[in-house]
Amino acid sequence: FSTAPATMKDLFGLARLRADQDFIVYEDEQYTFGDVMAQADAIGAMLVERYGVQKGDRVAIAMRNYPEWISTYIATISVGGIAVLLNAWWTQDELKYGLEHSGAAVLVADRERVERATPLLGGLPDLKVVAVRTPGDLPEGVDRFEDVLPVGAALPEVELHTDDDATILYTSGTTGNPKGAVSTHRAIISAILAFACRAAINRAVGAEPEEDADGPSYPPCSILTVPLFHVTGCVPVMIGSLLSGSKLVIMYKWDPGRALELIERERVTQFVGVPTMSWDMLEHPDFARFDTSSLKAVGGGGAPAPPELVKRIDGNFSKGRPTIGYGMTETNAYGPGNSGDDYVSHPTSTGRVVPVVEMRVTDPDGNVLPQGEVGEIWFKGPHLIRGYWDNPEATAETIVDGWLRTGDIGRIDDEGFVYLVDRAKDMVLRGGENVYCAEVEAAIYEHPAVYEAAVFGIPHERLGEEVAAAVLPKEGMTIDVEELQRFVGERLASFKVPSRIEIHSESLPRNAAGKILKRELRDTMAGESA
Ligand code: ATP
Ligand code: MG
Repeated sequence: FSTAPATMKDLFGLARLRADQDFIVYEDEQYTFGDVMAQADAIGAMLVERYGVQKGDRVAIAMRNYPEWISTYIATISVGGIAVLLNAWWTQDELKYGLEHSGAAVLVADRERVERATPLLGGLPDLKVVAVRTPGDLPEGVDRFEDVLPVGAALPEVELHTDDDATILYTSGTTGNPKGAVSTHRAIISAILAFACRAAINRAVGAEPEEDADGPSYPPCSILTVPLFHVTGCVPVMIGSLLSGSKLVIMYKWDPGRALELIERERVTQFVGVPTMSWDMLEHPDFARFDTSSLKAVGGGGAPAPPELVKRIDGNFSKGRPTIGYGMTETNAYGPGNSGDDYVSHPTSTGRVVPVVEMRVTDPDGNVLPQGEVGEIWFKGPHLIRGYWDNPEATAETIVDGWLRTGDIGRIDDEGFVYLVDRAKDMVLRGGENVYCAEVEAAIYEHPAVYEAAVFGIPHERLGEEVAAAVLPKEGMTIDVEELQRFVGERLASFKVPSRIEIHSESLPRNAAGKILKRELRDTMAGESA
């Protein structure tokens, strides 16, 4: 290792010390840590020597979860480039926006993304495009990965600094247009450190799962169910696996039956996804047929998890304990995390405040509130993004005196447990009352016929907003709107009971991060009543 400055490249170097150990499993393909690093070295040489990538140049990655995604990410950061993690779900227009906004010099993309980008290339004359896993004819000006990858090349030496930019991740776009969140080497390293520290603290207070006393214990293995371009997939799961020497089973796309097969086949010990993914597995008709006994932790984060899910995870996986984390792109996914016994006894909390980074709760003017009161959550620490790429207005709104305004509403109880109640933008302002969607969703999820639910506000002439819900019943089940309203009314004050409930017959709309797009549901329902 080099001594100083400390960079992501130094951390990636850990993988070289485990060269012969298994790292990536993708379908029938297997790669050791050594294989991935050798490919990253070759890509680094390709970027610098063939495409002239210099320090600070942006290299965009637009791929589904392929092993090459990971080596391109490692290579780009190691040669001083900024890895731009483009959303593989994006349409042509969105892809155009991402390439133009980031000013990418090189695009490394898989077949579908190359096809999507091809009509844009005329307008982006300086962009170099490398096609990964794209057999057959290629469009003019696009290079085939295999043809341009130098064999046995060494990683070019570039001087790096801890405070250099390393990545641009686009936020999930749940509340508006995705913003390009810029992290330095220091921010990502700090987030990883904070995760390790959080785990140590959770173990010390007895919340994290104990080592197996009975039965076989398997080497650490995670399954990647979320996209690599999403912060959860990239930082805690992928980089976390790389640093801890854990095997990583990557899924091209989410499929609960396939996930169960892989968990059994690869003896997966850790499952991280959005909460609905755990729910999807539990609801799978063949769930009981799969051997999931290797799992120690089941959960993830990114969206509210109904307490009902916590109970069901705990009751249905033999050793897998429920976990949840509260993080965001802007914090490199780090935030309070809840697991094991703590989570079972506090199923509506996203976990304890841990003294690794600072957290506070304020009123809308930014005045700090006494502990226990509900307000906006702010974070401070070295793990935060330094701002949004080419968006000084959004940066100034979000980062104030070194503190990050999350736009999330919550409280911290006197034991230090954090309760997230809503996003400020999603909270329903019904007459004089605030209605927190997560609480209403939790009550709906207790209903035995409910598979998916989303609560949101829609405009109301007199009240300003009224509470509405979209619900998908479990397969073969029906839901009566009035009966569901009565059911919720038995659990919550009447002003929180959705006055309008729409029963859906298909999955609710979600973005690539797996989050329900309430904006779409709201617009559709508001449009219908207009
Ligand atoms: P955009 O910022 O573009 O609107 P986004 O906020 O969904 O999209 P992400 O950075 O992926 O983009 O998500 C972070 C947000 O997800 C948090 O601010 C919070 O609202 C929500 N979230 C994350 N973890 C949890 C959790 N455990 N429970 C509830 N909500 C969560
Ligand atoms: Mg956000």
